Amino acid sequence: MKRKTATWLIHRRAGGRIHPTVNPPIERGSTLLLSDAADLYGPGRTYGRHGLSVQAELCDALCELEAAEAVHLAPSGVAACALAIGALVRSGDHVIAQDSLYGPTRRFCERRLSAMGVDTTFVDPRAADGFAASYRDNTKVVVLEAPGSLTFELPDLRGAIDVAQQRGARVVVDNTWSAGVYLKPLKLGASVSVQALTKYAGGHSDAFGGAVLSGDRATAGLVERTSQDWGLTLGPDDAYALLKGLRTLPLRLERHSASAQKIADWLALRSEVDAVLHLSRDDHPDHALWARDFRGASGLFSVILKPVPDAAVIRFCNALNLFGLGFSWGGYESLLIPCDPQLRRRRGDWTNTKTGPLIRFQIGLEDPDDLIADLEKALGRLSD
Ligand SMILES: *Cc1c(COP(=O)(O)O)cnc(C)c1O
Repeated sequence: MKRKTATWLIHRRAGGRIHPTVNPPIERGSTLLLSDAADLYGPGRTYGRHGLSVQAELCDALCELEAAEAVHLAPSGVAACALAIGALVRSGDHVIAQDSLYGPTRRFCERRLSAMGVDTTFVDPRAADGFAASYRDNTKVVVLEAPGSLTFELPDLRGAIDVAQQRGARVVVDNTWSAGVYLKPLKLGASVSVQALTKYAGGHSDAFGGAVLSGDRATAGLVERTSQDWGLTLGPDDAYALLKGLRTLPLRLERHSASAQKIADWLALRSEVDAVLHLSRDDHPDHALWARDFRGASGLFSVILKPVPDAAVIRFCNALNLFGLGFSWGGYESLLIPCDPQLRRRRGDWTNTKTGPLIRFQIGLEDPDDLIADLEKALGRLSD
């Protein structure tokens, strides 16, 4: 009997593919069709939430990039940070976190962890004792960011990891700034490296995603179960955009890095600038730690201007043509933001006498000479 329209519209679906393409197919699928009923409850992949071809290829690539045991994807960088930390604690545990942590991650610790019965102690990222003084008997996780993405303070990663290993705690490192290219936290002994793929991995400001990279099987198992329980998944279109970005990551990062270095060095000579917070400059307080553990510096840094009224900062920002005013970073376009409204750490703790406005620069892939010309013109507006 000929099938009716409503039936054949649903069942006429192309089967195989013509030829393999360079890139994995974007499969938009919640449902996987199994050819044998015996496999429905088998160990293989049976449901789209656990990822399809694109997500699997993205995980494989990230695994290799940071020498991870396993990678779990999340719908955003914040979700990946929450997954990494949330997987490793239970009610009654204690967490130590670097004071300069990315704001939303810090908020996760303050609000969500405390609602789960987990206490967080925030510590100065430059504490010389590897945070030993902040440990309690129930400390299970130490959360670091390398470096903090506003103030560019870098904790002593090896020192903190050593103490954590002695105390039986796991270390989670937010590795977004190095994009997993310039720093390999798992090789240093961290249990988890987290990346907001939204930033450098994606590289085009057009997709959200995060990755939790586990260094050992036990940690990966905890992350796996928590990811399942929280129902975290990353859609195929975003995963595809992130995978596409990842292909050119080393090349882009080289250019971000070289241009940022050039612009940071230019800014350091300007009379309007009090301090440049760029880790590859030897006037950065954490330069030696950076040189020991990193293979490069990416394109994000900050500058403290000499004190000027708020209105002058607004004039400066609004006079820029090539720098966009926008949060986030890691894309091909240059961006800049004044940071003071979102600084949680008291200035006196880390900048000593420097009290002027803090501006963060994301250096994109434009020609650096054009960016410098744009900055030169806008800096002139500070003293109008
Ligand atoms: C942006 C960012 C995140 C969060 O990433 P989203 O994808 O925006 O949620 C986490 N950590 C750092 C250091 C970031 O810069």
